Amino acid sequence: TTPVRVALLGAGTVGAAVARRLVERADLYAARVGSPLELVGVAVRDTSRVRDGVDPALLVQDAEALVDQADVVVEVMGGLDRARELIERGIRNGAQVVTANKQLLAHHGPALEALAAEAGVGLDYEAAVMAAIPVVAVVRDSLAGDVVTSISGIVNGSTNFVLDLVARKGVPFEEAVRLAGELGFLEADPTEDLEGLDAAAKIVLLARAAWGAPLTLADVQRRGITGLTDEDFRTASANGKVIKLVASAWTSGAQDAPRVELAVRPVALPQDDPLAQAREGSNVLIVEAESAGTLRLHGAGAGGDETASAVLGDLVRAARRVTRA
Ligand code: NDP
Repeated sequence: TTPVRVALLGAGTVGAAVARRLVERADLYAARVGSPLELVGVAVRDTSRVRDGVDPALLVQDAEALVDQADVVVEVMGGLDRARELIERGIRNGAQVVTANKQLLAHHGPALEALAAEAGVGLDYEAAVMAAIPVVAVVRDSLAGDVVTSISGIVNGSTNFVLDLVARKGVPFEEAVRLAGELGFLEADPTEDLEGLDAAAKIVLLARAAWGAPLTLADVQRRGITGLTDEDFRTASANGKVIKLVASAWTSGAQDAPRVELAVRPVALPQDDPLAQAREGSNVLIVEAESAGTLRLHGAGAGGDETASAVLGDLVRAARRVTRA
């Protein structure tokens, strides 16, 4: 059978994990898709750098030429403009697209989805929200026969790591932020995590998936954790509470014209609250739906292999569409 040609954009934490699995488990994916997945190339900035488990012969700088050979484009490079250009190019070529890029989707998701719909291709992004934890599919597809009424969660592992260090180990807040940075839990520029921008992008994507509403980052009432003081933590603890950065989305207003409200903010939760249970870098999401009641999803919301799990799931489904077309 004809192989499905896959272009991988990026070979960092996530991309290298995707490339390794594609080679190591080639037989498994061929069986699941019904055709082999052929990794035709991996676009990076620096082709001279060795990447563990990635065939150096596959590394290319000319991402356009790579995209033009692909049946499926997998974008795991991050950033806005360049990623957008390459994804649009893939869609216009008629390729399926898989991306883990939450910021790109938070900014340009609706425009990209419209372009994909027009071209008759899929644009899948399960990995963009909470990595391996299947949350986009749950609110958009699994609950398509129900009515989601609220979504709330701990969706940023980095800030949860910091807050957990303070709450359970008694580490002073500033010190916990420094430690999280040293241990690689924070980005080089930690603003995205600490100011709640990462969590805001994720809650926008989830709310769009759940309610189909045209929401943007500007709709999120957002407060990060940088304004917290050790006094806030002492007060919470004295009251038997624990501070968490909570992202939430809920509907209000008339049933026939519901409004979706979005917020990201530090909240002092009772110790036994399900969201208070998220330890270290883990994530948890609680979804309430009219008939389903309360659903709780819990796991690793980041990491190379964990994120690759979701990227590869989307890739298998995208490749099946290619073989069935
Ligand atoms: P990294 O920074 O580790 O890797 C980025 C990769 O993309 C690198 O290989 C880099 O090349 C390449 N790249 C970046 N810009 C360009 C460019 N302009 N042209 C060509 N190649 C480029 O990022 P991650 O793997 O951590 O993340 C990738 C995406 O996945 C992001 O959108 C992120 O938000 C998302 N994500 C990440 C998670 C995680 O746990 N890491 C979790 C969920 C989502 P080079 O190596 O040469 O520098």
